[in-house]
Amino acid sequence: MSQQIPTSQKVAIVASSGARVQIKDHPVKSPEQLAPGECLLKMHCTGVCHTDLHAAMGDWPVKPMTPLIGGHEGVGTVVAIGKNTERSPIKIGDRVGVKWIADSCRDCEQCRKGHEQNCENIKISGYTVDGTFSQYLVSYVHSVTPIPEGIESEAAASILCAGVTVYRALKYSETSPGDWVVLPGAGGGLGHLAVQYARYMGLRVIAIDGGEEKRELCKALGAEQWIDFTQCKDIVAEVKRLTDGRGAHAAVVTTASSSGYTQAIDYLRDNGHLMAVGLPAKATLDASIFFTVFKSITIHGSYVGNRQDAVEAINIAASGAVKCHYKMRKLSEIDQVYDDLAKGKIAGRVVLSME
Ligand code: NAD
Ligand code: ZN
Repeated sequence: MSQQIPTSQKVAIVASSGARVQIKDHPVKSPEQLAPGECLLKMHCTGVCHTDLHAAMGDWPVKPMTPLIGGHEGVGTVVAIGKNTERSPIKIGDRVGVKWIADSCRDCEQCRKGHEQNCENIKISGYTVDGTFSQYLVSYVHSVTPIPEGIESEAAASILCAGVTVYRALKYSETSPGDWVVLPGAGGGLGHLAVQYARYMGLRVIAIDGGEEKRELCKALGAEQWIDFTQCKDIVAEVKRLTDGRGAHAAVVTTASSSGYTQAIDYLRDNGHLMAVGLPAKATLDASIFFTVFKSITIHGSYVGNRQDAVEAINIAASGAVKCHYKMRKLSEIDQVYDDLAKGKIAGRVVLSME
C-alpha cells in the first residue's frame, strides 16, 4: 500500500493572514510516521466554506495557525492507519469525511457532555491542524465520519460542515412541524442546506437572501416565502405579514455579516429561538434586553456539530432528502472561489476536485 503513496503533494496554502492563497508542493506524512489513532486519507474533493475565507483573512478574534492549509469539509479514502491504533472504527479502503472538529479528546468535561466542538484539547481542521485543501491528509480514526453508500463524494463533502452545522442548529431550535423558521443567508452554502433540513423537519421556511439566482434556488428547494434583503425596506414587517402578524418561531442566521442578525429579535414571536450561526468578524449582537426578556426569546450560539450530528446529517443526505447544490472547480482555482465568496456571488456551494 505504502508504495503507492507519494512523498509530495499539492496543497492550497496561505503563508500569513491576509496573504493570497497559493498552490504549493508539500510533503505527505508516510504511513510509518503516523501516530496511533491517526490515519492517512487520499482526498477526493472538498467544499469551500465561508469560514475558510475568514481563516485565510485571519479576521476572527481567535487566530488560525500560519502557514495555513485550510479546508474542513472533505471526503477521502483511508490509505493507511497508524501502527498500534486501538479499536479503529474504520479500515483501509473506507470512504470517510473530515469535518471542522478534526479530533476531540473525548475525555474532558465538554466531550463527556457531548459538546465535542468545545473540547479543551480540540484539533480544528484547516485552523489548528492541516485541512482538506490537500491531496493527502492526516486525520483521526475516531473522529472521521463514515460516508454511507448512495451518496457521491462531491455531494457529501459540504454536508460535513455546512450540513452538520445547520442540521444541529435546527435540531436545537425547539421548533415543531408546521412552525415558521426564517433563514437569513438562505441562498448561501449553509443556508441552502438549512432550507432543505428545515423542510425535512416539517418546518415552513421564509428564506432571506439577495438576487434572482438565490431566489430561484431557495424556492426550488422548498422555501415557502422569499424576502430579498437588497430590496425589502422593512424585513420585520414583512416576516410578520407572512406569519399572520405573530412572527416566526425561530431564525437560523447564516450570514457572514452582522446585517442578517439585526432584525431577528423583532420578527420572532414569543418564546422564539434565535440560532446564531454566521460568524461576522467583529460585530456584536444588538438585541433589546427588554424585548428579549418580555418575549421570552432564546439566543443560542450554535457551533458546528459533534460526531453524532455528523452521522445524522450525512444519513439524511444519503437518503436523498437533502442535496447539496454545488459547482465543481479545481483546487488550483481556489483564489477565484474566495473572491466570489467575498462578493456573495456563490449560490449554494463550490466543491473542489483535487487535481
Ligand atoms: P456564504 O457566503 O455561502 O453564505 C452567506 C449568504 O448570506 C450569502 O448567500 C449572502 O448573499 C447572504 N447574505 C449576506 N447578507 C445578508 C443579509 N443581510 N440578509 C440575508 N442574507 C444575506 O457563506 P457560508 O459558507 O454559508 O457561511 C456563512 C457564515 O457561517 C460564515 O460567517 C461562516 O464562517 C459561518 N459558519 C458558522 C459555522 C458555525 O459552526 N456556527 C459553521 C460554518 C460556517
Ligand atoms: Zn465550514
